Amino acid sequence: MDQFGARGKVLAGGTDVLSMMKQGLLAPEVLVSLKNLAELKQIYADPARGVVIGALATHNDLADSPVLQERYLSLCQTAHHMANNQVRNTGTAGGNLVNAVPSADLPPLLIALGAAVTLVSTGGSRTVKLEEFFTGPRMTVKKDNEILTEIVIPDNSFTGSTYHKFGLRRSGALAVVGVAVAVAMEGDLCRDVRIALGAVAPTPIRAFKAEEVLKNRPVTDQLLEEVGRCAAGESNPISDIRGSKEYRQDMIRVFTRRMLKKAISEGHV
Ligand SMILES: Cc1cc2nc3c(=O)[nH]c(=O)nc-3n(C[C@H](O)[C@H](O)[C@H](O)COP(=O)(O)OP(=O)(O)OC[C@H]3O[C@@H](n4cnc5c(N)ncnc54)[C@H](O)[C@@H]3O)c2cc1C
Repeated sequence: MDQFGARGKVLAGGTDVLSMMKQGLLAPEVLVSLKNLAELKQIYADPARGVVIGALATHNDLADSPVLQERYLSLCQTAHHMANNQVRNTGTAGGNLVNAVPSADLPPLLIALGAAVTLVSTGGSRTVKLEEFFTGPRMTVKKDNEILTEIVIPDNSFTGSTYHKFGLRRSGALAVVGVAVAVAMEGDLCRDVRIALGAVAPTPIRAFKAEEVLKNRPVTDQLLEEVGRCAAGESNPISDIRGSKEYRQDMIRVFTRRMLKKAISEGHV
């Protein structure tokens, strides 16, 4: 990639790159395939860093990973409900992030869980918090010569997390809105919470004000409704064929409330 820069394109699972090339939307001079880098496919717990997901792990690798099933079941469930089986067998976690499509499913939950990514080039490596990675639709802070090698979820005190993609069909549909939450409960007090929203702004966003409304207060249905309203106010969706701005904002209100209730009551991260 150092040699070719913007004239080259990294190829992982190819579910996005190849379909864009077939549609004539992309014509790189060179494709640089990462496919044979087996070390970038691993998912493991690193005692010093947390859970590490190799960029080339496919959606089905995430869904079937014993480490994730034990530590972050919500991530297995999210991956399991993405796309269809062919795409889940091929599409990678790294590709889902670098693609930077606002409706993508992995970014909101990984942001809620506090994940960071490692970017590597011949010049060295750097770590970027995922919530600072996206800069716009299909745009990120990654430079042309950098490869995303891994996603790291640091250890945390969350007691529950979940993600819901609200689409117009039960499967194979893009998210109209995506809501991810992670909570740290102590009795009925919510000591910490992170709420991340997809498909309602040019990049996935945190609902910071809504988080503050919930923190350190006893959880009631009324409070969760207030948090949902606040999250809806923080979003800035577009109107398109899948839903108007107002409809999307109302769905944010509904699913933020429901996902918080689920994460609080289910008691697994
Ligand atoms: C039928 C269909 C259904 C889909 N359904 C969903 C869905 O439900 N939810 C969802 O979120 N997405 C969905 N997608 C989108 C897509 O499959 C995913 O985003 C997938 O994870 C992309 O990964 P990939 O490995 O195929 O990426 P590729 O197509 O190989 O690459 C995508 C982009 O990322 C770059 N890239 C990939 N890996 C790296 C890396 N490690 N380092 C640097 N650059 C990299 C490539 O250069 C390219 O720009 C769907 C796609 C299809 C075709």
